[in-house]
Amino acid sequence: MKILVLNCGSSSIKYQVFDLPAGNVLAKGLVQKIGEAEAKIDQSSAKGDIALKEKVADHTVGLKRAIELLTRGDQAPLADVTEIGAVGHRVVHGGERFTETALIDDEVYREIERHSELAPLHNPPNLLGIKVARELLPKVKQVAVFDTAFHQTMPKVAYMYALPQSLYQEAKVRRYGFHGTSHRFVAARAAEVLGKQPNQVNLITCHLGNGSSICAVEKGRSIDTSMGLTPLEGLVMGTRSGDFDPAIIFHLARTKNMSFNDMDNLFNKKSGLLGVSGKSNDVRELLKLREQGDADATLAIDLFCYRLRKYIGSYLAVLGRCDAIVFTAGIGENSPLIRDLTCRNLATLGVQIDPAKNSQAIGKELDVSATNVQTRVLVVPTNEEKLIAMDTFALARV
Ligand code: ADP
Repeated sequence: MKILVLNCGSSSIKYQVFDLPAGNVLAKGLVQKIGEAEAKIDQSSAKGDIALKEKVADHTVGLKRAIELLTRGDQAPLADVTEIGAVGHRVVHGGERFTETALIDDEVYREIERHSELAPLHNPPNLLGIKVARELLPKVKQVAVFDTAFHQTMPKVAYMYALPQSLYQEAKVRRYGFHGTSHRFVAARAAEVLGKQPNQVNLITCHLGNGSSICAVEKGRSIDTSMGLTPLEGLVMGTRSGDFDPAIIFHLARTKNMSFNDMDNLFNKKSGLLGVSGKSNDVRELLKLREQGDADATLAIDLFCYRLRKYIGSYLAVLGRCDAIVFTAGIGENSPLIRDLTCRNLATLGVQIDPAKNSQAIGKELDVSATNVQTRVLVVPTNEEKLIAMDTFALARV
């Protein structure tokens, strides 16, 4: 079955077509700058690469165009639109309602809509993608895969904030966690690498991309994660601060007269690696500057690794026994130095990297642990789209 996987942002549509159960990718595409004077459309497949610049007024036009490029003309990887057997949608927030992937019907659609207040930037474009795909492909089953679902197994002690419980009961203020699809994917793969079933392993999975989060996985289930009500909490990220004293907000309001919007922008878009270095949120760039002796880039990288190491230490304490620490996503898969700086000082806790193996692990799966360690260190490339396709296939074929 050919599965179309959609990830709709506010002005973009990312898409991939998978052939299941084989699991190979037939096409990848990206429509950017929807609603602007000129949009950019890129698609690659075995039939050839396409790069276009044209006006794409809205998501309906964008998705129509993507389906056309997939199914019509010499460079189309599919013979006909009827080849699309199901559509899998990435949905950011499923709240407490969605503990797993769901087949979309009117009720599920309304529930996702209801959760928009928890993810006002993300759920509305995800929903728009679902609406348009249901209109354009009415006979095809549509499936929603939630970033939050994997973390719904967290115990109350991990997901509650130490705030009056009325805030949880009345305003749903609790920790939800994100990147669940990635943590689930690499946890399952790490179990395979360790030669065990997912429910036999305890892991710490580190998703380190532009957004970063870490997850404590006990017997295959998430029991804690670093992101909270929103993706702002936790690790140092590209442009997000991660953890800080919330009283900084009152302090900045009083002393700098900053508004909530100013601060939202400051903590989400101008902090993290970008804020500390003052130069870039791109780790490749910062590593280059660090090599040249740039003090600000060095501090940014050190802060990133130090915070991550603190979280790893606390999750080792939470789990008791940990079979492996798993590094994934753009930074986790590609930067031996970040892995090395992070795992320093963890030897007494049973974690030690082999420098030679670590330097080999760039963009590929590898066990980079030293020999005879209690907790292995694995590099496992993530593939959220593939997991969305697999979940979609599982629900659509029945
Ligand atoms: P997103 O969250 O946008 O999906 P990615 O998982 O693609 O992010 O990760 C983006 C991050 O990965 C960027 O900070 C980028 O600098 C970093 N990255 C990519 N390749 C490398 C590399 N070879 N070495 C170090 N960092 C890398």
